[in-house]
Amino acid sequence: MNKTELEQFKLRLFSLRTELQGFEEAPIKAAKLVEPDQDNMGRLSLMGAMIAQRRSEESSRLRQRQLQKIDGALRRIEFGEYGKCFMCEEEIEAQRLSVDPTDTRCMKCIEE
Ligand SMILES: [Zn+2]
Repeated sequence: MNKTELEQFKLRLFSLRTELQGFEEAPIKAAKLVEPDQDNMGRLSLMGAMIAQRRSEESSRLRQRQLQKIDGALRRIEFGEYGKCFMCEEEIEAQRLSVDPTDTRCMKCIEE
């Protein structure tokens, strides 16, 4: 992988991270919205509110995991190890990385 490609992946990872962090600030407002208000809400809408709350917690966890993967990828760029397969140390196919720039395994190792 050449320097220009590396720079492009780096920019993409940074913008992915910014995007995810932007999401992370939203749930605070969303949580206020789904806060059960028993005077105005029936039992059903209370359930709905709880489900919505749980869903937002789940997607928040997924985003946290994704952020960790992005940080890991950025660290590998710093150390000059980006794009190498975690298992066999071969280069990961550029096509795979363009789909998911946080990928740590090559096609071959994933299939095994
Ligand atoms: Zn591999």
